[in-house]
Amino acid sequence: MTYNICVYLTQNCNLKCSYCFVKKEKGVISDQSLFDSIDFAVKICKTQKEKVNYYFFGGEPLLHFDKIKLALDYMICNHRSILESNMFRIFIFTNGLLLNKERYHYILEKSKLMNNKLGLGISIDGTEKSNDHNRGYGSNLISKIRFISKKHSPSLDIGLICTIHPNELKNFFNNFKFFFDDLDVYSFVSGIAFHLANCDGWKAKHIKILKNEVKKIMGYYFKNKNRFKNIEITPISQITHGVKTYLSEQCFHLLTTNCNFKKLVVFPDGEINSCFIPRFMKDIKNNNSSLGNVSNFDTNIFLKKIKFLRTQFRIKDFIFDNYGKKSNNFLENLNKKYYSMSNKFCISFYGIENIELKTILEKTYFDTIKEESYRYEQNKQKWSLFKTL
Ligand code: SF4
Repeated sequence: MTYNICVYLTQNCNLKCSYCFVKKEKGVISDQSLFDSIDFAVKICKTQKEKVNYYFFGGEPLLHFDKIKLALDYMICNHRSILESNMFRIFIFTNGLLLNKERYHYILEKSKLMNNKLGLGISIDGTEKSNDHNRGYGSNLISKIRFISKKHSPSLDIGLICTIHPNELKNFFNNFKFFFDDLDVYSFVSGIAFHLANCDGWKAKHIKILKNEVKKIMGYYFKNKNRFKNIEITPISQITHGVKTYLSEQCFHLLTTNCNFKKLVVFPDGEINSCFIPRFMKDIKNNNSSLGNVSNFDTNIFLKKIKFLRTQFRIKDFIFDNYGKKSNNFLENLNKKYYSMSNKFCISFYGIENIELKTILEKTYFDTIKEESYRYEQNKQKWSLFKTL
């Protein structure tokens, strides 16, 4: 399992996406907190002997490119040895608008100095029209992606993140095809994630639309399966490779009942949390969800604490696997007792009215992928049987 440590350089952004959940604030992380966050991530990697992905996050991190430069130099000067292992990677998550030729080449050159351990994650929702609908500046972004595809080097890992808003759900399949047929992402992208926006606007009618769109996508996916060999498509790749592992390692906000402390968030003031939600919620006063500050963080105490919490997870998983729904009361009590960040935060954060529907939609999304995979794999088996006759 991998630790994902998301460092909010700032909560400020140059866009106003319709589905954005970030509480916009102008502050920026201090140089010291930035260095401390790197030391913290490296310490977790070394003491836990587990992989760490460190993300520059926001808001829009490229608003403070100087901080990124500073952090990368700090990493190269102070933690070179960990970059030579396969245990530590750094990603810059950006909306792409402030990415220009100069910055792209700078990032690429730094990645070469860092044993190719740097990656760039860019948010893009599909065609120009789909981007314009919820994000804006679609043509600008697409021209940058085309530039990256031309200049691509294996030294820099490129990933794309596509958010599906209810008003663009009917174009899900078209947007999916756009990435592969038009942008030719096979040639320069290692992973692409498609997730449903956490926002208002989901309606019961979207269940049927989602199912139809995912069916079309899976038909396309199996028809072109060989072309998808070297690209991770989330959640399709994970589901077709075994859904259980995927679900147990990821927080889907609304599908699971807890976080697994493998995802940690560092805010611009240096506070560490297991999730961004409690911090962004206006109506949680004096919440005690902070795990401490990177400036004086005792990593050893923290690691002992999460080891204990994970034991509870394992007990919980065991009980759920063996007793299913009958164990609900027990699970509830465990949740109440041990987790500072519980489902109820997620529910109030995203809007209580939509919570059940959103959960059904997430489930429809994953179930349709599973069903269609099963159907196509079954057909494949029948076909190979037929050929042996
Ligand atoms: S780019 Fe990201 S942080 Fe900025 S408005 Fe859009 S979703 Fe929010």
